[in-house]
Amino acid sequence: MDWILFGPPGCGKGTQAERLSASLKLFHFSTGDVLRENVAQGTALGRQAGAFMKRGDLVPDDLIVAMARDKLSQPAVAARNGVLFDGFPRTIPQAEALEKAMGELGRRFGGVLALEVNDEEIIERLSKRGRADDTPETVHARLAVYHKQTAPLLAYYRQRDQLAVLDGVGSMEEVEGRLRKAVEGRNKGRGEEHQACGH
Ligand code: AMP
Repeated sequence: MDWILFGPPGCGKGTQAERLSASLKLFHFSTGDVLRENVAQGTALGRQAGAFMKRGDLVPDDLIVAMARDKLSQPAVAARNGVLFDGFPRTIPQAEALEKAMGELGRRFGGVLALEVNDEEIIERLSKRGRADDTPETVHARLAVYHKQTAPLLAYYRQRDQLAVLDGVGSMEEVEGRLRKAVEGRNKGRGEEHQACGH
């Protein structure tokens, strides 16, 4: 079963995605991590994406969708219980492309786990993180991009009854607990066996 971990930049998605993917044996697919690897290696994708990332803008949908399709067809993905998408989809066209690709590949979708964290907290967390694209200007740009282009996905998935909204403020363990509960809840709701391991 595949899941989307959703939330504004700096909401703790990356850390939670690592923990959740380990405990549920999911393939952790962070588009940001894959893009940064490509930038570091100077690939064609990295050269195309780098400028957008530096500004805090989204990388164009066609590049992201091609990258995601490529990733989903890799054997490393098939070896896991599912995929945990982290930082993807970020636009409605990406969500539509993901739905189509998952249908073609016969993948099952568990739902969207959305972490809610308010803007002041986000700005505070991002200014402490110190990543190359975490300058004050970029932080504000990324937050604006999130509200304009990414937040509309909440309504998109709510309409499809595929959304669980969770409080993203709290200790790492508290937030992780909420996420695991939401996964269990949605698995039960489908009358399916809970696939989680590690407890
Ligand atoms: P992240 O690590 O998820 O914060 O992503 C870092 C940067 O990579 C973002 O600010 C975007 O420029 C780019 N990026 C990552 N994922 C996506 C995506 N799904 N669509 C467009 N751009 C993305």
